[in-house]
Amino acid sequence: MASDAHAHPYDLLRRDEAAETLRRSLRTACAASAWHEKEFLYHEELSREAVRDGAPLLVPCFGVHPQLAAESADACAASLAFLAGLVRENRLGAVGEIGMDLYGGRYRATEKEQERLFDAQLELALEGKLPVVLHLRRATDRAFARSGILARLPAVIFHSFSGTLREALSLSDRGIRAYFSFGAPIALNHKKAREACAGIPLDQLLVETDAPYQAFGGPNFSSGRDYSDWSDLPLVIAEAARLRSADSAVVEAATDINFRRAYGIGG
Ligand SMILES: [Zn+2]
Repeated sequence: MASDAHAHPYDLLRRDEAAETLRRSLRTACAASAWHEKEFLYHEELSREAVRDGAPLLVPCFGVHPQLAAESADACAASLAFLAGLVRENRLGAVGEIGMDLYGGRYRATEKEQERLFDAQLELALEGKLPVVLHLRRATDRAFARSGILARLPAVIFHSFSGTLREALSLSDRGIRAYFSFGAPIALNHKKAREACAGIPLDQLLVETDAPYQAFGGPNFSSGRDYSDWSDLPLVIAEAARLRSADSAVVEAATDINFRRAYGIGG
């Protein structure tokens, strides 16, 4: 069974009303990231319904996204307070996505605020003994700077990992229980992502759709959609398998086991 390490079902719903039906029919478990309260409550409801119906799991995650710092200080404060409540009420599968986005002037202007939010949320994850899902754009160094606290968390999921293979290996060397998740970019010309996906140990590999935000395009795949959904996940798995000269079924099985280990499900 394929498992999606990172998606946004609430946002996908606006592109496809039947998205949850699709997920169930494909038997795809997924981690659902939210950064606004109403998104999270929707995911939490889907998660309860999935358990009730014996459908593939949907793991509700919440974090103050680093891009929110560029929108409003009030929204960040409200989301951070909401997150603290969720941690204390034990309602989360993971804290995230959190991290740093230093791509472009608009985001770089909020660097200090992003640092503050990132650190506050790592503390909350530690308090709740929760895994984190990291969004790091032009900011892999910021994970190295925090390797002490990251190594104390049960798991650290690098969503849409954009660092080098060498960086991935040295993050693991620092005692971080790191997982590296790859999506549509490995099917395009993202050389670093392709090399990292090819070389990291199989037990640290994850796959994701980031649905609806990473549409397949380019020369290898054409989904005919300008958004991603769960039917793209087998394409990601096939590409990861090709890069690793492995069998798709092996990558599918391994990434499913890794998904469960990373998010602390079962066993
Ligand atoms: Zn995302």
